[in-house]
Amino acid sequence: MTVVAMGMPAVRTGRPAMDGRPDTPLLLDRYGRVARDLRVSITEKCSLRCTYCMPEEGLPPIPADELLSTEEIVRLVTLAVRELGVHEVRFTGGEPLMRRDLERIIAGCHAALPDTPLAMTTNGVGLEHRARGLAEAGLRRINVSLDTVDRDGFHRLTRRDRLDSVLAGVRAAIAAGLAPLKVNAVLMRETLDGAADLLRWCLDAGAELRFIEEMPLDADHEWARANMITAAELLDVLGKRFDLTEAGREDPSAPAERWLVDGGPATVGIIASVTRKFCGDCDRTRLTADGRIRSCLFSDQEYDIRAALRSGATDEGIAELWRGAMWNKSAGHGIDAAGFVPPERTMGAIGG
Ligand code: SAM
Ligand code: SF4
Repeated sequence: MTVVAMGMPAVRTGRPAMDGRPDTPLLLDRYGRVARDLRVSITEKCSLRCTYCMPEEGLPPIPADELLSTEEIVRLVTLAVRELGVHEVRFTGGEPLMRRDLERIIAGCHAALPDTPLAMTTNGVGLEHRARGLAEAGLRRINVSLDTVDRDGFHRLTRRDRLDSVLAGVRAAIAAGLAPLKVNAVLMRETLDGAADLLRWCLDAGAELRFIEEMPLDADHEWARANMITAAELLDVLGKRFDLTEAGREDPSAPAERWLVDGGPATVGIIASVTRKFCGDCDRTRLTADGRIRSCLFSDQEYDIRAALRSGATDEGIAELWRGAMWNKSAGHGIDAAGFVPPERTMGAIGG
């Protein structure tokens, strides 16, 4: 196997080790997990600069010829579903709305895979103008990332004054039938005081709010375990305004613990991505915007699927490379281990 020296992450171009792998078409790993959920990052560009994600100047641009094209994305997504047993596909970035061909990507995937749920994670900037077209193209679900409804707080956190556009985007997506719409908020000390206002806004808009623990994937490397907000702190703040009753998980492997708000049926969720390790249940595989397979957010090992694609590999050849990449997936993220080193790529460069 060739390891190309590009600094970190280690990009592999040869065939991954398949020792001991049973003969199955699925994306099985050595620990018995099967990846069914594909995250596809389609760009490194973004309209915001969230402090927990991007550097102020944005990520270094991916040269146009290194970015997967519309047709390449459609081919890889189709292959992942048909040959590798993927059940759900989520487009992300960077900000997926920054790609002008997003509707064509969705339409191409939907035409090839009419029964596969296509979803997108977006910051919602400009979504109001595209929600209907995306729904018509075949997008089925949408998560909007929104941490606060306080305009100054939003501006400070994202380094952009675009709150109104995001709020309009959420409303437009719900009106376009992209429901149930989930709002994801990163749990941060700066926005904790406004958490109840955010929940109120989401309840009124008809969106389901989930808080997610901040992970050490920020470009500025400022994450510190000691700064993390606990679920108890958040529930304390929300409990001053709402009556919360524990409602458990949608199903045992669902990431969010949920609380009924004021007797329900609306709920608020907490995804404890750091303090509660989900690695044992992980069913994700990731494709980066520059065409690499990444089996784990926290592992710097990547496999160059773009090179295979562009050197004329068959669907079966690409599928085998993908299977091998997943066979070599690491057991877990190790955030709690002494000497943990965050991965080279930040959240915006991997795709959340
Ligand atoms: N730009 C889109 C958005 O913000 O939804 C999609 C890409 S973004 C990287 C995907 C998700 O990752 C967002 O919900 C964002 O809040 C989350 N995220 C980014 N950095 C994070 C971090 N350090 N810890 C936890 N979540 C993070
Ligand atoms: Fe952009 Fe999403 Fe990262 Fe915020 S979280 S900077 S919106 S990619």
